[in-house]
Amino acid sequence: THPTDPAAGQVDTHCPYCALQCGMTLRTGARTAIAPREFPTNAGGLCQKGWTAAALLDSPARLTTPLVRVAGELRPASWDDALDLVAGRLRDLQAAHGPDAVAIFGGGGLTNEKAYLLGKFARVALGTSQIDYNGRFCMSAAAAAGGRAFGADRGLPFPLTDLAGADAVLLAGANPAETMPPFVQHLRGAAAKGGLVVVDPRRTPTAEQASLHLAPVPGTDLALALGILHAAVADGHLRQSYLDERTTGFAAVWRIAAAYWPERVERITGVAAADQRRAADLLARARNAYVLTARGTEQHATGTDTVSAWINLALALGLPGTPGSGFGCLTGQGNGQGGREHGQKADQLPGYRRIDDPAAREHVARVWGVPAASLPGPGRSAYELLDALGTEGGPRALLVFGSNVTVSAPRSAHVTERLSGLDLLVTADLVLSETSATADVVLPVTQWAEEDGTMTNLEGRVLLRRKAVDPPEGVRTDLEVLSALAGRLGQPEDRFPADPETVFTELRAASAGGIADYSGVSYGRLRAGEALYWPVPGDDHPGTPRMFLDAFAHPDGRARFVPVTHTGPAEVPDAEFPLRAVTGRVLQHYQSGAQTRAIGELAAVVPEAFVELHPDTAARAGLAEGDLARVASRRGVMRARVRCVGSLRPDVLFLPFHFPDRQRANLLTNPALDPVSRMPEFKVCAVRVTKEDGA
Ligand code: SF4
Repeated sequence: THPTDPAAGQVDTHCPYCALQCGMTLRTGARTAIAPREFPTNAGGLCQKGWTAAALLDSPARLTTPLVRVAGELRPASWDDALDLVAGRLRDLQAAHGPDAVAIFGGGGLTNEKAYLLGKFARVALGTSQIDYNGRFCMSAAAAAGGRAFGADRGLPFPLTDLAGADAVLLAGANPAETMPPFVQHLRGAAAKGGLVVVDPRRTPTAEQASLHLAPVPGTDLALALGILHAAVADGHLRQSYLDERTTGFAAVWRIAAAYWPERVERITGVAAADQRRAADLLARARNAYVLTARGTEQHATGTDTVSAWINLALALGLPGTPGSGFGCLTGQGNGQGGREHGQKADQLPGYRRIDDPAAREHVARVWGVPAASLPGPGRSAYELLDALGTEGGPRALLVFGSNVTVSAPRSAHVTERLSGLDLLVTADLVLSETSATADVVLPVTQWAEEDGTMTNLEGRVLLRRKAVDPPEGVRTDLEVLSALAGRLGQPEDRFPADPETVFTELRAASAGGIADYSGVSYGRLRAGEALYWPVPGDDHPGTPRMFLDAFAHPDGRARFVPVTHTGPAEVPDAEFPLRAVTGRVLQHYQSGAQTRAIGELAAVVPEAFVELHPDTAARAGLAEGDLARVASRRGVMRARVRCVGSLRPDVLFLPFHFPDRQRANLLTNPALDPVSRMPEFKVCAVRVTKEDGA
């Protein structure tokens, strides 16, 4: 390891991208260089995104001056002029249309401090209820299911390194071999023992390493989980003593699962009954076993119920809260965990508190120095908020921090149209993302290595990401932007500090007593290298690496089985749109691609969108490898280069979602919402594929 010594041009920090938050050392000098660093999540490994992350720091694509749209064009402006303009327009719009005329859209990559101050800025400086963030598109179904089963939602309620001792791991809808490659080393133990089960409609690089690959028809994961549960119970694997002592509600779950015997489930999912039984057997006979979910199984209109079905399976086998075993979800975005805890969600206050809980409102209002009655109530969820922009009664202005909704939101042509109907669109951005390119005001902000801040990784461990280099001249931090805007909106100067550690100190107080209690986490303890997993309720508290060992977080200490049943996806293929489209990521790109497409080494490997098709499906459409295909759904049309993949189901095609303009996979996706979490159904929609005219 390398000690942090900025004076010697060496700073220990973490990767700017995904939730693994790999340890790395930045060496500054004429050029900033990255070296991997021993850290439990990555054990010295980095993926190609991490290795090349320094390229974004001095990228020619960086924004270094505010931009203001004049006569249809974005033109450079001073910070004072840009901020005065934004604050003045916000005041005017709220005076004319009420506080909810202004909305905020945040991101799961923002530091804890930014997520916290953004939520406070919305509720206090603007008094608007209209705030949500892109984590609604990412983690919300898993979060809702975890909360209702366990009483608290922490992606992995155990350290990642615990997986090394597993005999069996079932991964549902996760492809870490591409999305977070250093993670895969934690699965080697289970794979070596023949116990790695991967559920994915594609034969991904992760599925290639599995002992058992189950490839369900997209949108049928819930039925598959019921089938495996049925097999486990029928084969006598139910952990009755665990059920009696630690859970409630199994009988209602079994009343449904009893009707999902494996042969019936085979007809729904396409997964052989024998394979369902084998998966149940592998998990049940393991001394230590884990069930882990990710976006593939979560991003559905039945996402919360689908995760509940996997949790029910894990509970029936006695895994959650048992040393050496467990249930968890793999957070995706860099601060996907912390981003959902500190109040940038429409229904939430800091500390993972509900905004409609009177005691939570009193507590947070006291920390903020405002009357609880002045805090707005819950607002619209992310897609509903975007869909309401510029409509009668909807927000007339939107401020976007850390998100590129033009590419990442479902039904993206419609969302783009809604954005264009706004009176004011403001973005805070590193580069001119597709959303910023359509904004009225663009504010250039710092990125990871140019500022201090904390992130909470996929294990619920709080990390200090340190400033290693000065930002380019002309760039400000998001905290400085919020502080300056709050001042212009009449807030007292000390209510919106711009110093990250000062903001974090306030966050600690606001989170005290909440589910995600950070009150005992401090920059000092993090600088000293302490491994602090929330909850950390006090300066002397060592943190909680493993949750639920003695009790779950419900008042009675028991986990809840939640009865759920298979209903299928919101949209199924028909004669007009006969195929099922699945979306996902590639190794070289992150989220909307705004950052990674700006890095030449990554863009050179995967420069454009592609569509994976079974060779027979391609041939039927008159397509061959390398052709330009036109993929259409009920919501739009996109173009992508054909890749023929023999292992793919012939009724499925796969699209990466990192690309802009006519290559946006989200032109196709279905905004049908999960009724519990408001997660859109990104992971399956009905499409047809044809040859692009003239291609
Ligand atoms: Fe690690 Fe994720 Fe960064 Fe890759 S993108 S280096 S897996 S944190």
